[in-house]
Amino acid sequence: MAYDQNNIFAKILRGEIPCEKVFENEHVFAFNDISRKAPIHILIIPKGPYVSSADFYEKASADEIVSLNRAIGEIAKEKGIVESGYRVISNHAAHAHQEVPHYHVHLLGGADLGGCFN
Ligand code: 5GP
Repeated sequence: MAYDQNNIFAKILRGEIPCEKVFENEHVFAFNDISRKAPIHILIIPKGPYVSSADFYEKASADEIVSLNRAIGEIAKEKGIVESGYRVISNHAAHAHQEVPHYHVHLLGGADLGGCFN
């Protein structure tokens, strides 16, 4: 699938749609999810044009991959949820119901999230 420059997160990155920014560095941008599923629900995205996790894993540079993963850890620390716990989710394509075709990671925490597989 080709990257759609008009997807919602591309518009957020270009500042065309407002968001509640949480974090930014050279390669990564993060903001609150508009429809929170937990007290803390943050979307962490690469600035580069990657459609999905598979696209990111295949094409992103080592710097981008490290930067995104480090950002997850930094944001979790900054939000004070490292000890209490958090969940990281990334939906890829149809079976996972990925809605926005720009790779993103959901960081959820701030409450007991329940078991994922039971
Ligand atoms: P997906 O199902 O693709 O993994 O998740 C997409 C997420 O993007 C959803 O949790 C949805 O609430 C969030 N989202 C969709 N549109 C917007 C928007 O315009 N602003 C923000 N902040 N989040 C959005």
